[in-house]
Amino acid sequence: NWEARLQVGSQDEIGMLGHSINDLAASLQRYRDTRRAFFSNISHELRTPVTYLQGYAKVLKDGLVDSDKEKEQYLSIIYQESVRLEHLINDLFDLSKMEEGQIKLNMEWMDLKVTIKTAVQKVKLKAENKRLSIQIDIHDPIPLLRGDQKRMEQVLLNLLENAIRYTEKGSVLVRLTATKEATILSVSDTGIGIPEKELPYIFERFYRVEKSRAREYGGTGLGLSLVKKYVEMQGGTVRVASQMGVGTTFILIFTHEKKQRRGGIS
Ligand code: ADP
Repeated sequence: NWEARLQVGSQDEIGMLGHSINDLAASLQRYRDTRRAFFSNISHELRTPVTYLQGYAKVLKDGLVDSDKEKEQYLSIIYQESVRLEHLINDLFDLSKMEEGQIKLNMEWMDLKVTIKTAVQKVKLKAENKRLSIQIDIHDPIPLLRGDQKRMEQVLLNLLENAIRYTEKGSVLVRLTATKEATILSVSDTGIGIPEKELPYIFERFYRVEKSRAREYGGTGLGLSLVKKYVEMQGGTVRVASQMGVGTTFILIFTHEKKQRRGGIS
């Protein structure tokens, strides 16, 4: 029973140990709760796109469409839902590999400017559907970094998809700057924000802010845990700043090694 807590009276080493054990028990309990919620959630998450795919495919198959415009609309929904399903399956796959400690990075010199443009292109339609604008603000010169381009793209996609999902109006801004010491990539939104007391937990696997809100917005609680894992595997750190009703910014910091190459493609 993880709810059992040690009674800690003293401030000496034994007391400190007691506090550590209590912290550990609390985080294990949180993990168990969120994991349970995850499995009931994931079946819903998988079922929703499949329902759309079947429904719209059937309408098209049975010739129940009046106009080309309508047909186009349905095909576009089918496409978007299949992309959603693909992301979900990829996240689950990555999660299982991560749990077995099997994720390997393909390290190469990568140009974050290209990664940003590719990722933004992929979520553009989603943003347009919600009438949100996405801006890119790049401050040249940006050095090439050692990293895994595919994983970095996934990191950006997860952050961008969250920014779009949790924003009702306004914009999403991707910013890239470099100083001598570090390259800094941030994704900001003008969305609903994250309560301060929840900020320490959002990078935990399966963790989702407020159950009612989580249900309303969909998602799995996996995105940010993968973001953190991938960024740290590439030597970076992740920070977050958020204000309720104002917006959220995720900041990725990659400290330069001495032998870093400068330059890159504009
Ligand atoms: P989810 O699949 O639930 O989005 P994540 O791990 O990506 O899982 O995020 C964890 C939680 O953090 C989310 O449930 C959401 O409440 C909160 N969150 C993440 N990104 C944002 C954001 N840009 N704005 C507001 N809340 C966010």
